[in-house]
Amino acid sequence: QHESQLQAEKINVLSELAASFAHEILNPLTVTSGFLQMMKQTGIPDEKKQLFNRLALEEVDKAQSIVKDYLSFAKPQFETQETFDAKTLLEEAGAQLRSYAQLHHVAIEMFLEEKLTVFASREKLAQSISHIVKNGIEAMPQGGKLIIVGTLQNQRVCIDVIDHGVGMTQEEIGRLGTPHYSTTQKGTGLGMMMAYRIIHLMRGKIEVISEVGKGTCFSISIPASGSASFH
Ligand code: ADP
Repeated sequence: QHESQLQAEKINVLSELAASFAHEILNPLTVTSGFLQMMKQTGIPDEKKQLFNRLALEEVDKAQSIVKDYLSFAKPQFETQETFDAKTLLEEAGAQLRSYAQLHHVAIEMFLEEKLTVFASREKLAQSISHIVKNGIEAMPQGGKLIIVGTLQNQRVCIDVIDHGVGMTQEEIGRLGTPHYSTTQKGTGLGMMMAYRIIHLMRGKIEVISEVGKGTCFSISIPASGSASFH
């Protein structure tokens, strides 16, 4: 019963993803095509041509980012669910992002309890966490401290990612996890959408607390392996 429900949900997510992918990719392609058409016209000054060329390239870049974001999340690894220690996963994610953090003058600090055992897709969870940590680093343009806390609470493994960055308004928080929402130049707004869906598929929850100019806390919780809410 539960299994087929989960299966149906996966198919739902996949078709939704395919639809938003098509939609997302079509937009920059249409714009690129427009610029290329304009460049073909006779009597266009060189300056204008250069401009159209640059804008067309920017749109192609955008399309590339969209495809890359989709590929990094859409690999069919969902079947490979396993029991593992989220503590190790968090340590590995932290280690992988350490040089990226240093580049942004951000220090990563971790407070992790022992035995954070979950049954989930290891790679997908790692991707989601890395993405949230990366966003946290990017939210601190002056550098600062990023804190990762891993605890066991009420048979759920809770992961908090706390930054002291630019923060978000209530409205911005509400738009997180929906496509098209991005404030960065090359951003696609897809990363968060994928992270939300993946975590929900694992019967997880994401809560966001944020204050503009102060920082943001992403709280993720997924059922601990062997807990009552776990089947
Ligand atoms: P992208 O990183 O491609 O812009 P995301 O889906 O990862 O897309 O994030 C969408 C938007 O959410 C970002 O552009 C940013 O404005 C906002 N955001 C995400 N995480 C944070 C954070 N920790 N602090 C402030 N803003 C954030």
